Amino acid sequence: MQCPNCHSKESKVTDSRDDDRSVRRRRECLACSHRFTTYEKIEIPRFSIVKRDRSREGYDRSKITTGIFLAFEKRPFTKSRLEEFADDIEQELISLGQKEIKSSQIGDIVSRHIKAADEVAYLRFISVYKSFKNAKSFIREADKLIRQ
Ligand SMILES: [Zn+2]
Repeated sequence: MQCPNCHSKESKVTDSRDDDRSVRRRRECLACSHRFTTYEKIEIPRFSIVKRDRSREGYDRSKITTGIFLAFEKRPFTKSRLEEFADDIEQELISLGQKEIKSSQIGDIVSRHIKAADEVAYLRFISVYKSFKNAKSFIREADKLIRQ
């Protein structure tokens, strides 16, 4: 969410209230401390997930938030910031406009968002998601990250 005062994109949520169709958030800009309110429409995700074994299941946001919370454990991010990551990811999934989304595609989108925010969390996330089998594969990914 862009600050209307200085256009910084970093803000923290100080209060959040849901009603039927929208969520009202009080935000404070991290750059200039300007306070502003946003109203975000709640879109209900309507797609199912195609898993690796080709079975299908309904979309479950808590699976995404659980993955994010684990990856960011002890990293300097507030819970509301992490919920925002989940919101962004969910919006991106909705905007694909697909009835079915492959779990691998979701994994890629989640890891891209995490990577942009925190390298340590990213390595943690992909070590679970790509199920690294040994230290070598972990180091290879870390090395890739350093070279980028
Ligand atoms: Zn600002």
